[in-house]
Amino acid sequence: MIKFKIRRQDGDRVWHETFSVEETPGMSVLEALFFVQERLDGGLCFRYSCRGAVCGSCAMLINMVPRLACRTQVSDAQSEMTVDAVKWGALARPVAKVGKDEILIEPLPNMKVIRDLVVDMEHFYELLDYIKPWISAGEEVPEGGNLMSPKVEQKIEAYTNCILCATCYGACPVAGRDETYLGPAALAKAWRFYLDPREKEKDKRARLEAVNNQSGVWGCDVVFKCTAICPKKVTPTQGILAQRRQIPKNKIKNIFNRGKKSED
Ligand code: SF4
Repeated sequence: MIKFKIRRQDGDRVWHETFSVEETPGMSVLEALFFVQERLDGGLCFRYSCRGAVCGSCAMLINMVPRLACRTQVSDAQSEMTVDAVKWGALARPVAKVGKDEILIEPLPNMKVIRDLVVDMEHFYELLDYIKPWISAGEEVPEGGNLMSPKVEQKIEAYTNCILCATCYGACPVAGRDETYLGPAALAKAWRFYLDPREKEKDKRARLEAVNNQSGVWGCDVVFKCTAICPKKVTPTQGILAQRRQIPKNKIKNIFNRGKKSED
C-alpha cells in the first residue's frame, strides 16, 4: 500500500488528507487518484482527459514538482520522496508536513484553486490570447505555396509540441509574484509565431514589440525551471532569450531601413 497525502479544498476550507492506495505494477499517479476516487472518496476532484500526455489536463504538483499525473509513475514518485523542495522554491502556498512514506499531491501553484486539484485555467488562457497565437497572414497563399526551409522548420518544431498543460506556469517564480507576466508558455508561443515565415515583417515586428516589456520577455528570471519541467521538451526560456536578442537586432534594422529610405 502506498500513502498519498492530497491537498483538498472546498471554498475557503483547506485541508490535507492521507489515503492508502493499493499499488499495481506500472501504476501512474493518475491511476492512483482514480483508485482514491472510486474506492475511498468519490468527492475527490481532479482533471484528466487523454491519459496519455497529450491533453495536458492532469498537470499538478507531485512531491512539490509540477508535472503530469498520467506521465508520473508511482514507483518513481516513491523513489524521490526526498526531493529537494528548495529546488522548486517557487511554490505559491505553504506545504503540509509530509511523512517520509507519503507522496504529496497538490494543485498547480500560481493559479486559483476551484476545488481540490482542479485549478482555474482562465488567466493562463487570457495570457496566451494576448500574444495572438495564430498566423496573421490569414488564408493568403503566395504563388508556389508557403515553403519553409528545414532549418526554420526545425527551429519552430522546438515550440510546436506545447500542449498548454501550464506545468511551466506552475513552476515559474515570476508568475508566482506577478500576474501580469505572460509566462513561459505564452512567450514560447510568441517566438514560435515570430519564427514562422508566413508572418509578414510588419506583423513580426508588432509581435515582438508586444512582448518588449517587463510583463513580457524582460520579466523572466532566467532560472530555466520551465524548460527543465516541460513534459513535452519545449524550451520556453530559450525562446524568451531569443526574443531578447532579436529586439535590438530589429531596432538596428529599422534605423538602417529608415536611413536607406530617406537617401532614396
Ligand atoms: Fe506545458 Fe511545456 Fe507547453 Fe509549458 S511549454 S504549457 S510545460 S507543454
